[in-house]
Amino acid sequence: MAKKRKKSNPKVNLHLAFGWKCPKCSQRNFTDGIFIEFSPDEQKMMAAEYGCHPSQFATGQIITKPEAVQCSKCNKDFKVKPDKPHGNDPTGWE
Ligand SMILES: [Zn+2]
Repeated sequence: MAKKRKKSNPKVNLHLAFGWKCPKCSQRNFTDGIFIEFSPDEQKMMAAEYGCHPSQFATGQIITKPEAVQCSKCNKDFKVKPDKPHGNDPTGWE
């Protein structure tokens, strides 16, 4: 009689996402961010523009919000409010 191999629970990879609550049905949703990659030259330009050290852009990648989202429950589409620049955040991403 063959031994039954004990099934192990699969593992999952977690990734960054934006959470939001649907204004129509109150469903809590999570939406993937959009990854933007910068070349080393672009990293240097960004650092110069925002007065930062290029190491702040060393990963060459940022995550940004999508412009619109859709509720997973009621399927209604919504535009995403732009970010307000943060106090001393030199990037002030919008
Ligand atoms: Zn909804």
